[in-house]
Amino acid sequence: MSVIMNGKEVSAAKRAQIAKRCEEYKKEHGGRAPGLAVIIVGDDPASAVYVRNKKKGCEEVGFNSWVYEMGAETTQEQLDDLVVKLNNDQSVDGILVQLPLPKHLDEKHVIELIDKNKDVDAFHPYNVGKITEGDYRFLPCTPAGVMEILRYYNVDPSGKNGVVVGRSNIVGKPMALLLLHANGTVKICHSRTPDLKGACREADILVCAIGKAKFFDGEYVKEGAVVIDVGINRDENGKLCGDVDFASVEGKASYITPVPGGVGPMTITMLLENTLKAAQMKN
Ligand code: NDP
Repeated sequence: MSVIMNGKEVSAAKRAQIAKRCEEYKKEHGGRAPGLAVIIVGDDPASAVYVRNKKKGCEEVGFNSWVYEMGAETTQEQLDDLVVKLNNDQSVDGILVQLPLPKHLDEKHVIELIDKNKDVDAFHPYNVGKITEGDYRFLPCTPAGVMEILRYYNVDPSGKNGVVVGRSNIVGKPMALLLLHANGTVKICHSRTPDLKGACREADILVCAIGKAKFFDGEYVKEGAVVIDVGINRDENGKLCGDVDFASVEGKASYITPVPGGVGPMTITMLLENTLKAAQMKN
């Protein structure tokens, strides 16, 4: 049987650590807590849930948080004005613009407008460059959450074959970099990869991040591999599921993350880590 990697447990341990460091930070800074500002534009229900959870996460570890809800008809100028205002606000350490934005707004422009020292999502090209260098002033949240889970379960990527399926800027590419920096030998696969199954079967650590419900069955997995499921999807019955067909892979993998309760809980935790880091960098 596979060991099920419990993301909730890893996340709780990490948040307890962040809460403790937040207390220390407050003592050193006259009671001032780190603060995160989140901007949400429009009424996407999934985004609303993510933003609520980010606010809850902040409260849990003792941070200040502010949520700016803007209507779907918000103009680029209005959004830009708010970002600039938050860039200049000394009480705000981290700024996050919840994506996706409504189609008429320019995501790339907004990301580049955020002060690179407050870019706690680590999407600004400056921070992406830093991550490429292996200088993690801000961590890419989801991939960093995966690394935290691997560490917690004593899975060392050094010398292992890591295969990442998915090449998005948010997950796939930074995930591959973090495994590489941890001395893994890394292959990135995507929709044009021939013989995906064969490529996946070479993996000692397989990270699945394509956004296709239960796509990876046991045939994609080498006996004893570590399988990380980043996907968040709904199955045919509307139930939350990952990219991995858990029932088919469990038993073949040595370790596996479930969905829900695997990688998901880690992303916001790493965002909190980045917010604390932003506050510390400022001082
Ligand atoms: P994107 O849609 O941006 O990227 C998907 C990637 O998967 C692309 O590179 C695409 O290839 C590749 N892909 C799609 N279909 C196939 C296929 N059949 N075979 C091989 N590769 C394929 O998604 P994200 O990276 O943003 O997210 C991936 C998943 O992770 C989603 O389910 C998302 O909900 C989830 N997610 C979870 C988070 C968490 O906190 N746990 C955070 C962020 C995302 P190509 O480039 O060639 O098109």
